[in-house]
Parts: sequence; C-alpha cells; structure tokens
Amino acid sequence: MYAMVLKQPKTPLEWTELPDRRPGPTEIRVKVGACGVCRTDLHVIDGELPDPKLPLIPGHEIVGRIDALGADVKGLSIGERVGIPWLGHTDGTCPYCLMQRENLCDHPLFTGFTRDGGYATAAIADARFAFPLGEEGSDHSIAPLLCAGLIGWRSLVMAGAAKRIGFYGFGAAAHIIAQVARWQGRSVYAFTRAADSSTQTFARSLGAVWAGASEEAPPELLDAAIIFAPVGALVPLALKAVRKGGRVVCAGIHMSDIPSVPYELLWEERQLLSVANLTRKDGLDFLALAPRIGIKVVTNRYALRDANQALADLRNGRFEGAAVLSP
Ligand SMILES: [Zn+2]
Ligand SMILES: [Zn+2]
Repeated sequence: MYAMVLKQPKTPLEWTELPDRRPGPTEIRVKVGACGVCRTDLHVIDGELPDPKLPLIPGHEIVGRIDALGADVKGLSIGERVGIPWLGHTDGTCPYCLMQRENLCDHPLFTGFTRDGGYATAAIADARFAFPLGEEGSDHSIAPLLCAGLIGWRSLVMAGAAKRIGFYGFGAAAHIIAQVARWQGRSVYAFTRAADSSTQTFARSLGAVWAGASEEAPPELLDAAIIFAPVGALVPLALKAVRKGGRVVCAGIHMSDIPSVPYELLWEERQLLSVANLTRKDGLDFLALAPRIGIKVVTNRYALRDANQALADLRNGRFEGAAVLSP
C-alpha cells in the first residue's frame, strides 16, 4: 500500500510505500476510494493537537470498500462500501460510554490522529466504527459528510431549535450544514473574513439569507450561532449577535484563545458551549438524513500524492467547499 505519511509535526507529508496490513479480529481493511481533507488534519500536522501517533497517516473522512475482514467481524461483508469517521474506537466501559456520550470516552482512538487514517490506498478500521454507506452517491461526494457533515450536524443539533442561525466560517462544514438548516426551514446567516466576497457569494448561492463580514452585526439578532473557524476572537462577536437566551456553539477541535469579554455579553442566559467529536448515533442519524435532503457537496479533487497541495489550499482558503483526495 501507499500513503502520505506525517513523520514529524510541522513537516510535509511524505509519499511512502508500506507493507500491506492484515486487519485484527475485530477490524476491517478497506480499499480507499476517497478521503476528505479536514481542518483538523491541519491542526494535527501543525502540532496543535497533542500526542499524535507518529509516524501517522492522517485523514478521517474515508470512503472505501472492504477487502479484508477480521475473524470476529459481524454484519459487514467483502466489497461493501463503508465510511470511516474521526471516532475510531472507544473503550465502551468508561462513565461517558455508559451514559451514551461515547464522544467523550476516556480512552478513545481517533482516525488519522491516534490511529492511522485514509490518506492512503488502504486503511484499517475498528469494524464497530464503520458506517455502511450503500451505493447511492460517489465516493468523493460522500467523504466530506463523514466529518464536516457529521460534526456539523452534531453542532446544529446542539444549537437547538434556532430559527435564525449564524455560521462563522463558511468552509466544508458550513456549506453542508447550511443546506441541512435550510431544509429544516431555518434562516442561515453566513459570516466570513471581511474581504472574502467570493465566499459570501458562495454562501448566498446555498441559500444564506444574509452574508457579510464576521465583524458586522447581522440585520436582526440571531437565535444561535455556530463557530466553525478556529478563531477565538469570533466568540465575543457571536455572543453579540445572538438574542437573549441565544446559544453559541464552538464546533472545532482547536481554537485560538478567546479574548476576555465583559460579562454582559453572556448575561441574559446566553449560552456558550463546545462540541467534541461524534457518537455513532450522530453518524447513523445524519447519514440516513443526508440523501433525503439532497445535499450538494462542492468538492475539489486532488490526487493522493498531492495531499500537501490540498492542505496548503485549505490553509489559504483557495477553494470553496471541501477538498477530497483520490488514491
Ligand atoms: Zn469510554
Ligand atoms: Zn474532521
């Protein structure tokens, strides 16, 4: 097999030939059809998330077909198309797993972070954490649903019954979740970097009722906001943009420091919360819903070997939608 491998944080990925691996008794091996590129991959590569497996194959939006099954795997078959998300393993026994909050497991493994991921021609996964995908839709259009879609979905659920909802940062996740929110009858307000008129136009094309700079006040107060961009300075701006009792959800795994804010921004029962990882139930709920909504995923395709270019383009905001690698 071949993979783009991170040997040390803050260095480019290296094209590497590796011996084929056999899945363990509870694992599957998939031939990768597509793997999405997520902002979290940048945080891993930049060393902003502590203690990655090294060397590491990044990538946690994997779509592929099973080509080897462990002896104890039930309910999956050779040739079946599956999705492999960020949550790669849980212990199933800690207090969080027992209270149906496996996203907060005390002993988790994360795909493309603490276990190898999908920037490769093949990937090994814990069979219990793979989602059967059926045959509808192309591999590359489904891949971004597996993190941008799933964690975006969890964030949208956490935002509650908000009619007017703001998205700060309009990248892969927001462009998917804007379509979900609109389908649910909500009004989407898109906040981008001040000069980024092309992303504002893109947001309007996906049904946003308003798009502007993050520093701008929306035309009316919002019921909730989701912050997708990893920028702590957006927190006070989002708190200012929501009404009394409104909610601000931080969707990212990493964020720069949140500046000190006057208490009055939180006063009147505004809520500030974060979303961590996903549960398998989030995945099953969202992947069942996605085909009914008819989500159009805008993808920018790169060859696996060009993963460093895809990451650089993501870092510099050079495309709209999501980047996807094809082996
Ligand atoms: Zn656990
Ligand atoms: Zn991700």
